[in-house]
Amino acid sequence: MSRTVVVTGSTSGIGLAIATAFAETGDNIVINGFGKADEIKAIVERLESLSKGRALYHPADMTKPAEIADLIETAAKTFGTVDVLVNNAGIQHVEKIEDFPIEKWDQIIAINLSSSFHTMRAAIPLMKAKKYGRIINIASAHGLVASPFKSAYVAAKHGILGLTKTAALELAEFGVTVNAICPGYVLTPLVEKQIPDTAKARGMTEEQVKSEVILKAQPTHEFVKAEEIGALSLYLASDAARQVTGTHISIDGGWTAA
Ligand code: NAD
Repeated sequence: MSRTVVVTGSTSGIGLAIATAFAETGDNIVINGFGKADEIKAIVERLESLSKGRALYHPADMTKPAEIADLIETAAKTFGTVDVLVNNAGIQHVEKIEDFPIEKWDQIIAINLSSSFHTMRAAIPLMKAKKYGRIINIASAHGLVASPFKSAYVAAKHGILGLTKTAALELAEFGVTVNAICPGYVLTPLVEKQIPDTAKARGMTEEQVKSEVILKAQPTHEFVKAEEIGALSLYLASDAARQVTGTHISIDGGWTAA
């Protein structure tokens, strides 16, 4: 039977790959995120062409709790419930702490951390009622280790791991698992956008940033593919993973082993 899968921030990058992976298994998909109307329409049509289920777009801004509540409510009204919630929306800003714009700090904490509290707060009663649910939080290697100039991002990603563990304990007896995925670098617009800022902050060329900062962190010296995070999400949402809860799985080319 088709499940209903909500993926925040899924008009691009990792979220889109996760939404695609679930669509390919025949699930109903609710996508979310920013983008041009015609591009979003094309994504919805493509997801529907891949799936036996339906696809729906909701424009909730992940900095706005009321819009986030409406995202979950709309998913439940349209498809009956939310079975799988993937908290993926995220942004980055690279700057020294003393120069870090206060509004950027607030925005990153809102999108990369607080939005997951708001989606979970709305979805958990639906999952508890069904005695089934899967919550997958897309954290980062930066949930486990830090890098300079990414204070808000690293703080939010460490925070999401704490939220993951707390929710897992609260939901352990309700058939609901809560886990985090900690990817290393994936070449998405989020990473491409930070290359010029990192170059500026570190006094390097953009090519040096790619080879000496980004891929240097990963012993495999290869980017993780967004599709590989899609496949890992399918595993965490599977019956085989029903005893996997309150933890994280790294997919980082060995970065955090060092
Ligand atoms: P991306 O920029 O390609 O996609 C981000 C998505 O979030 C887009 O759909 C965008 O529209 C959406 N979004 C941004 N602000 C939003 C808001 N206020 N409300 C709703 N949607 C919003 O980025 P990505 O690399 O695919 O990142 C996805 C997640 O993966 C993020 O949480 C990121 O921190 C995490 N991550 C990325 C990497 C990487 O190397 N790319 C590594 C580890 C973790």
